[in-house]
Order: sequence, then structure tokens, then C-alpha cells
Amino acid sequence: MPVILNFSGKDRKATATCYFCARIMTDTIAYIRDLLKDCYPSEEIRAFTRLIMEDVCDIPPHRLLADKGSVLSVGERHRIEEIVGRLRQSEPVQYILGKTCFYGLPFQVNPSVLIPRPETEELVELILTDEKGRGGAVLDIGTGSGCIACTLAKLLHGSRVTAVDVSEAVLAVARENARLLGVAVDFVCADIFSEEQAVERIAEGFDVIVSNPPYVTESEKGAMEKNVLDYEPHTALFVPDDDPLVFYRRIARFGRQRLNSGGRLYLEINACLGGETAELLRGEGYGEITVIADIFGRERMVKATKIPKEYKNSAPHAAKRNVGFTDNAVRKVLKE
Ligand code: GLN
Repeated sequence: MPVILNFSGKDRKATATCYFCARIMTDTIAYIRDLLKDCYPSEEIRAFTRLIMEDVCDIPPHRLLADKGSVLSVGERHRIEEIVGRLRQSEPVQYILGKTCFYGLPFQVNPSVLIPRPETEELVELILTDEKGRGGAVLDIGTGSGCIACTLAKLLHGSRVTAVDVSEAVLAVARENARLLGVAVDFVCADIFSEEQAVERIAEGFDVIVSNPPYVTESEKGAMEKNVLDYEPHTALFVPDDDPLVFYRRIARFGRQRLNSGGRLYLEINACLGGETAELLRGEGYGEITVIADIFGRERMVKATKIPKEYKNSAPHAAKRNVGFTDNAVRKVLKE
């Protein structure tokens, strides 16, 4: 539907019917709604509108109503047209704006990194809760945007965080995020599947290893949204159907060498593979294996402990503990 533009004021006197983004805020909001209404549900369009107005016009959501008569500059209108055009192509708004929010902190993103997800915020929450007051050396494997590493560096007091990724392009994003947040993270470029690189470049003696590795199987691709499939890095998402836990096996073995005795492993997991992941960790010699559900009740995280050598032959650690996480979260303790 065309948007009616009233060109009034000292620059031009005319009334025009135009498909381009309007000058006045209320008309611009109508323009965004009209152009996106066939592509997105109305609630999502409202969320986009708030993000766009804040990003382009510096108008925070609570000012939208009060500023509804304000006039947009030519530059702002062009930028909004560009954003709306890209949204119509299903491009994620986080890539278009180049930023997102994770655990209440701002992060820059581009298509070389996965857009941080709410389930990963829950993984961070779990670590912040369980590791509070402990500090220690933390390693994040496959850091991507650096969202886990930087958030822990900022909020887990006393921690020293190292973050590894296989790609320099990805690490450039993570480094910039650490700089913008004012946190110190030691970034390392290495392929953890290469024994040589791991030995040469990554230190030993971590108290915590955390990872959100690729875990979506090729056969689950069909159920994924176009905006994920067409824009997000497949190397950060997908694993072969015939070996979906390939990263977990590698990380578990790596952890056996590099975790301190009693050190903890925290992993985001495929919600359909909780049992299999726990079994794998048990087979690799870990104890206190706990599969944890997210706020929607889906098994999304696993925590395990590197059993101290002297306990190796004794009964497995009792895993019943009173865990306070989020209200709705369920922790399922596997019988060992
Ligand atoms: N949680 C992401 C998704 O479901 C996948 C992240 C990953 O593979 N590590 O889209």
C-alpha cells in the first residue's frame, strides 16, 4: 500500500503518493508495517520497528509515542528503506544492524559468527550460578562472537578467560566485542581437532571448559528457518547425521588433558541428544553428569566434572544436589 507523504514546510510544498519511506515518524512506522506484513507476524514487526527507530533515529522505544510527529532526515529514510528491503529477504535483523544483545550486554555480529541465542544465555547463567565465588581459569571452545567468553570475563569475578576459535575472521569479531565491553580475554586461533595446534597454542590447567559447538544434524536442516539457513554460518551449526557428537567427543578428550582435577565442563547440547551426550561423557571418564533443561523444558545443557584421580575407582559422585537455577528449569540427574 502506498504511503502518503505530505511535503510541507520550507523545503518543498507538494503532496505526493510515494512508496518510499515517509518523513514523519508515524508514517514511517506505517511504511515499515505495510512492507513487512506479508513476511512477518505483527509482534515481530513491532519489535523490528522499535529496533530500527532506536538504531537509525536514536529514539528509544519509550519515546516512540512522544516523538511520533518528528521529521526524519533523508539519510535516516534511506537507511530505513535499506533495512526493510533486507528484512523482506529474510536477512536476520541482527546482521543488518550489525549488533545484538546477549545477557544484557551489547555484542557486534556479522555473518561470520552465529547470532547469540537465548539458550546460550541460559548456559552462561548456569555457569555464573555454579561457579560464583570460585574464579579460576576458563576456556571457551569455538567462541564465535565471543558472547560466552566476554560475558563470563565481565560477570564471573576472579575468572581468567581464554577463548579459542578456528577462524581469524571470527576472532576479529570476538576481539572487538571484548574491547567494546572493556574485558580481558585471551583469544587463540586454533583448530581443536589438531593435536599439534592444541598443544602449541592452548595452555593447560583450566578449571572450567565451556562450549556451544555445532550440533544441529543435517537431517534437522529441513525444520530450520530460512533466515538461519540462508544467512548464518553453517560451519557453526551443522554436524553429520552419522556422527552428531563429533565435537563433544573431541572436547571431552581435550578436557581430560586440560581440565584440572575436579574441573567442570559446561556444554550446550542438541535437545534431542541429551542422553547420548551424557553417555559419551560417562564413557570418557567424567562424573557428576547432569543434563539440564532450559526454561521451555528442553534438554539444552550438560555439566560434567573431571573426576579427581584418587576417586577414579570409588563409587561415582553422588549427583543428587539441590540446584537452584531458574524457576522453571528442571535438572535431571542421571543415575550413574
Ligand atoms: N542453538 C542453535 C540453533 O538451534 C544452534 C547452535 C549450535 O549449533 N551450536 O539454531
